[in-house]
Amino acid sequence: MRGLVERLQKVKLFVLDMDGTIYLGDRLFPYTKSFLGAVEESGREYCFFTNNSSKNRGAYLEKLCKMGIIISPEKMLVSNQVIIKWLKEKRPGRRAYVVGTASLIEDFRLAGIKLSDAAPDYVVLGFDTSLTYEKISKACHFIRNGAEVFGVNPDLNCPVEGGFIPDCGSIAALVKASTGVGCEFFGKPSRHTLDYILGQSGHSAQEIAVVGDRLYTDVAVAAGTQVTSVLVMSGETTEEMLAGSDIKPDIIAENVGEIGEYLRKNG
Ligand SMILES: [Mg+2]
Repeated sequence: MRGLVERLQKVKLFVLDMDGTIYLGDRLFPYTKSFLGAVEESGREYCFFTNNSSKNRGAYLEKLCKMGIIISPEKMLVSNQVIIKWLKEKRPGRRAYVVGTASLIEDFRLAGIKLSDAAPDYVVLGFDTSLTYEKISKACHFIRNGAEVFGVNPDLNCPVEGGFIPDCGSIAALVKASTGVGCEFFGKPSRHTLDYILGQSGHSAQEIAVVGDRLYTDVAVAAGTQVTSVLVMSGETTEEMLAGSDIKPDIIAENVGEIGEYLRKNG
C-alpha cells in the first residue's frame, strides 16, 4: 500500500464499492472474504455502497448471499436511498415522474413518494435498463413545462461482461440535449452521498474510509473532506489513469486483500 496508510488507524467504518472492488461481474475476488473478516476481527465495520440505480437493495443482498456474503440489510446502500431520503426531506408531498426500472419505482413507492405520469412536480432519471422513447419524451415534456429534474447517479457507462452499457448520466445527457436543462445528481461522488453515509452511520468523517476502483466516483466522493479515500487497482483504474488524474486518493492498494493484511498486522 502507498500513501497516508496510517490514517487507517482511526477508521471505524469501511464503505466499500462493489464491482471492481469486492468482485468482478459475478466472480468474487479470492481475497474479499478474508478482508471482510479482518475488518470485523479488528473491531471495525463495513458496508457496501453502489451507484447502480437499476437494481435495489434486495437484488444486491441476494447477489452477495449467492457469493456467501450474508449481511444485514442496512449494510447495503444504493444511490436510490440517498435521493429518496433527500426528496422526502426537501420536496415533501411533491409528485415524482420516475424514469427507472421497476425496482427503482418500487423503492419510491415503498418510501411513500407520490408518483404521477400526468402532472409531476419533478422528474427523476435513474439507470433505466427498461428505457423507452415514450418515457424519455414524457420526461422532456414535463421538464419543458417547468418540472425539476434529478439524476440518481452520474455514471455515463456501466461495465458489463464484454464492454459497457449507457448508464444514468448518459440518459441525463440526452434529456439535457433536448430540454437544455441539466440535472443535479445523487450517488457518488455527490456530497449528498457523503452526508447520507455520515448521517446513517453516526461516525465522524475521520472514522470513515471509502474504498473503490474508480477515481471520479469512489475516490472523488471523499475529496476535500476528512474521509479517507482508498483506491484499489483491482478494477478500472490503471497506473497511467492515476498518474494523469487530478483526483488523488489518500491511499492506493493493489486490492482489498492488501488492506486486510494491514489490518491483521496493525490492529
Ligand atoms: Mg467499481
